[in-house]
Amino acid sequence: MHQNNAEAATSVLPATDSRPDRDLPVDPDLLRDLVTANHILYDQGVVDAFGHVSVRHDKDPGRFLLARNMAPALVTEEDIVEFDLDGAPLNAAGRGVYMERFIHGQIYRARPDVIAVVHSHSPSVVPFSVVKETPMRAVCHMAGFIGTGTPNFDIREVAGDGTDLLITNNDLGKALAKTLGEKVLVLMRGHGSTVVADTLKKAVYRAVYTEVNARTQAAASRLGEITFLSEAESETTSRNIETQVFRAWDFWKQKATAACAALSNQFGAGQEL
Ligand code: MN
Repeated sequence: MHQNNAEAATSVLPATDSRPDRDLPVDPDLLRDLVTANHILYDQGVVDAFGHVSVRHDKDPGRFLLARNMAPALVTEEDIVEFDLDGAPLNAAGRGVYMERFIHGQIYRARPDVIAVVHSHSPSVVPFSVVKETPMRAVCHMAGFIGTGTPNFDIREVAGDGTDLLITNNDLGKALAKTLGEKVLVLMRGHGSTVVADTLKKAVYRAVYTEVNARTQAAASRLGEITFLSEAESETTSRNIETQVFRAWDFWKQKATAACAALSNQFGAGQEL
């Protein structure tokens, strides 16, 4: 438990045992949806063996839920771990946890409006993180949430040269959250991106369409000068399409559940990677 974990020694939060609400059960539907989110993000090509999705605890905003250190496609309800906002696991019971969990905790701390976070290395997005000349912008109505510009976090400006580019501590998590600011998407130079939303389903939707927008923008740029969505179009399209997120979720869920069940049958659920 928390007090036996080495991470707890550096936590600035009270020890878990002193918290009277420590056993608040997570909404079972939310837990199931988090498993589904893992599977959808795999099936839609946003994550592979790496990348992760979290959701804020529905009864304690000072905690979030995230799978243990494993491939998202194989995640089950038993693999979900609770963390405090410093990234200290509360019930890992010795299980490995993601090195980059600090992305999630520090964004939840900085942004009370955020309920879910997706971090990925989705392949079409990474090129936009390494070029100065071409910022990612919304090019299609499904991705209006991206707006007219995307902040790009360069770890070198915060931690100097020679890092592994990963967000492996709370200081780096704070710096990333600062670069994200009030936006919903932040690129991470030479690494990937992180997207947030006020619901889990919307965060998954945005992660999928961040990848789609990156592919579309790159394809359009080879054809000629791009007419991007304007600021006003970005706002209107995102406001309207995001009322339809349930439709994408329901379809993606059916497809992903079948695909991930087949994978689990083939490889066995719960492999630690
Ligand atoms: Mn990463």
